[in-house]
Amino acid sequence: MKMKNIRISQSLIKEVQKEGCELAVKKMLMGERTEPTEAMLCGLYFEHYLIGGTRGGEVPEFKPLKSGNKPKAELDLIDLIDKSKDLLTANDIIIDEVQPEYIHEDIVAHLDAVGSVRGEKCLIDIKWTGTKEDQKYNGGWADPLMKEEAHIQANHYTYTYMMATGKHLPFYFIVFGKSGWCKLIRFNCGESALERHEGIVNETRDRVNQMIKEDFKYEAHLGLCSKCWYKKTCPSFSNHLQIDKIELL
Ligand code: SF4
Repeated sequence: MKMKNIRISQSLIKEVQKEGCELAVKKMLMGERTEPTEAMLCGLYFEHYLIGGTRGGEVPEFKPLKSGNKPKAELDLIDLIDKSKDLLTANDIIIDEVQPEYIHEDIVAHLDAVGSVRGEKCLIDIKWTGTKEDQKYNGGWADPLMKEEAHIQANHYTYTYMMATGKHLPFYFIVFGKSGWCKLIRFNCGESALERHEGIVNETRDRVNQMIKEDFKYEAHLGLCSKCWYKKTCPSFSNHLQIDKIELL
């Protein structure tokens, strides 16, 4: 694997920042795919039928029931997608580019959409979530200031788009809750935030370079493997338990 072939995406930044298993980083760099979880499938399906595309152009599909009918999860999503389309129209949210890719040198942004909100051009990310509207933890969106991963995504997309096009646009998450709630969250990523992000991109590049030189060293253990994207298919999955040592003096 050669550094010159590597593109720095926001997913790569997050995987490297975990300081977890370097084999998982290698798998991501090699483009190894994972079987989507039920929640991921719902998110992909929702995004595909709301804006007309998901990354890679594949159409997400639910397995039909034995009777041949659509499962309840899919029927609920179809209903939510109809209502969500009305919400987009009611709020003057227009999608112009679906799933565009922007590249600056070795940095890549796979945006959900470029469009406009109430007449202003912006970058857009669509989220579907099973969480409650007032949920702060475990993936909840009640307090976006606490969501470090959302900050990385907003900064990364704003930065890459700006470097690729020369335009500094606002970034929106449009979050759709399974139970029908919806939030329009605007991130204004200022110059200092984007400078910090440039530093994070540089650190990620250095770390990946080091990992390649050292041939991706890792020590698998259950603490890492149980929450890994690749746990279902990775032959190195380990049940080894690390010991939490507590000294009582
Ligand atoms: S399953 Fe375990 S060993 Fe395999 S990539 Fe994930 S964390 Fe690493």
